[in-house]
Amino acid sequence: MSHILTTCTFCGVGCGIYLETDQQRITGVYPSLSHPANAGRLCLRGWNVHEVASSPHRLRRPLLRRKRPQELEPVSWEEAFQFIAQRIRELIRQYGSEACAFFAAPRCSNEEAYLLQKLARSIIGTNHVDHGTGVYANHALPVLLEMLGVPASTAAIRDLQQTEVILVDHVDLGSQLPTIGGWVIRSHLRGARLIVVDWRRHRIAEQADYFLQIRPGTDVWLYGAMAKVLLDRGWIDREFLLNHCDRAKEFLQSLQSYDLVRVSRICDVDPELIQEAALAYGRAQKGVIMFSTGGVARQPDSIRALINLALVRRNIGRPGAGILALAEHNNLQGVCDMGVCPNLLPGYVPVESAEGRERLKALWGTEPPSRPGLGAQECFAGTGDSPIRAVWLMRYDPILTATFCDARAALQRMDLVVVQDLFWTRAMEYADVILPLAAFGEEEGTFTSTERRIQRVRQAIPPPEGILPGWQQLVKAAQAFGVEWPYQRPADVMEEIRKAVPFYSGADYENLDQEYGRQWPCTIQRRLGTPRLFADRREKVRFRLAPLTRPPIPDDPGPEFPFRLLFGQAHYYWHQNTLIQNSETLRREYRVLLLDYPEGFVELNPEDAKALGIRDGESIRLVSPNQSAVTTARVTNEVRQGTIFVPFFLKEVEETFWRNGTLGLGNVSQPVFVRVEKGGA
Ligand code: SF4
Repeated sequence: MSHILTTCTFCGVGCGIYLETDQQRITGVYPSLSHPANAGRLCLRGWNVHEVASSPHRLRRPLLRRKRPQELEPVSWEEAFQFIAQRIRELIRQYGSEACAFFAAPRCSNEEAYLLQKLARSIIGTNHVDHGTGVYANHALPVLLEMLGVPASTAAIRDLQQTEVILVDHVDLGSQLPTIGGWVIRSHLRGARLIVVDWRRHRIAEQADYFLQIRPGTDVWLYGAMAKVLLDRGWIDREFLLNHCDRAKEFLQSLQSYDLVRVSRICDVDPELIQEAALAYGRAQKGVIMFSTGGVARQPDSIRALINLALVRRNIGRPGAGILALAEHNNLQGVCDMGVCPNLLPGYVPVESAEGRERLKALWGTEPPSRPGLGAQECFAGTGDSPIRAVWLMRYDPILTATFCDARAALQRMDLVVVQDLFWTRAMEYADVILPLAAFGEEEGTFTSTERRIQRVRQAIPPPEGILPGWQQLVKAAQAFGVEWPYQRPADVMEEIRKAVPFYSGADYENLDQEYGRQWPCTIQRRLGTPRLFADRREKVRFRLAPLTRPPIPDDPGPEFPFRLLFGQAHYYWHQNTLIQNSETLRREYRVLLLDYPEGFVELNPEDAKALGIRDGESIRLVSPNQSAVTTARVTNEVRQGTIFVPFFLKEVEETFWRNGTLGLGNVSQPVFVRVEKGGA
């Protein structure tokens, strides 16, 4: 048996694990005791990650549908790539380069993401590249860029060990990022105060000193009032705000309209609880604020209000203090760093920047286009200037992604659909070409975790005969277009990334092999990386506060439609993940709750259920002014009274009320109100 150190790539924590192999099979996993992100701990997914490679359902050959509606048939790699190149050339001749769009999911490695956007920009000539999670549509990373100048977490996960207060905003850590959830709980047991703000009472909320189960859509009011409490007590670091932050006076002035009693009515939270939470936060000498970068239905102002709160207590750049902008997706940070965004080149350089394009031209030999591309939402909804005719989906299935319109219909309309994945996905029903990928443990690469840690993912066994690693497939694709890329190994791709992304300039494989990767900026001058941003007091950095305009007060549901639907990720969201479906243990574990609710469920508060005479497991109908859907009630105090939680995997309900129903594209945070009727069938 042999053991190889690698990184779990199921979620954004990036835990260190050892893979155990026996004669070309991965047979087990155990945690690294000294890895800074997990220190000997793993979650259910990590313990079973090795099952994925040995699944009997792996795709083993490239498949090609020469003409629709013919069947897919196995072909050689050469034939598959020649077909793709020929079709794309025809489409470009007919409709132009902008008829093609490329999607690299956050499951792609940095090397894969970099090469796919390079293929799109340097060979095809389009900026229609996206990771498709909607994170940019939800503004978390751009807001960080705007206020701090860095689109990432400022703190390290280990800062949770030293902190005195933790504010967890709308992220179910126990389900999404369990290892970080564990750090939070241990820190809390050691004495750190825990404030949780959420619509739902999840496991971390149960442990909180202050759980503010606010009315949806009122976060800005809440955080404005908390800052006002600190201002009134004189607990704001005025010297820091006035000397290091732009717009400080306007911001402080804007807090005057955040009267605690009024805000408590708007948020529907006891004013004393808001005050106590604010004081607990303000009393601490060092605090960590964490929020999700991938959660939907958040407005940029909510994130701005949170970053204000970090700045007013100077919770930045000090041990035990900072912002953790959490990425649930395993390489969301990395694919954004690699420029898998329609308006940003690698390193977050706007596509309009002539200097940025010139730098890439020196590397690529061709200049990327200057016009911003379309994101996944516009591509699939067909709202761009001209329709997209060809899509390339790398580890990405738009049919599973929550925030889009009817992705099936969109794929059906396309003239060419190329899908790269490990297993059969729903998007493959509409594919013209399917390219099977290597599994975790079968290829080399790097991933960048939610704490900016660039880490190696190592090959423990070779891929099955005939399977090419993803990066190599992209090299072959370029070749089919007549372009020879010089990479022999993924390390060669990283050599180029170092030149394209300045804050990765010190991140060669040799350096990343030391300890457990490096946290960016990892530069030639600072090869050890940077666990905590803004820690160097000699650096002249200016932050930008966001004066809080008074947001609209959310509509009250009327008596006819008294419940607000809330859409989001739940623990059982994971059961539809392609990798989980193909791991025997994980499939069983993540389906446990569904044994009681085989058709899925929506969650209803026990008081509401009692008033309506609805029992747990009963069939119900949700009725809005112009739509209705039948589902099953799960009665639980995890949800607030007056709200109904719809997990994303409940496609029928989600599509009825969100995609095709009352909400249009771009209105994901607009409230949907319904009434509940018993016995919907
Ligand atoms: Fe893997 Fe995330 Fe679990 Fe760590 S917390 S073991 S990275 S799934």
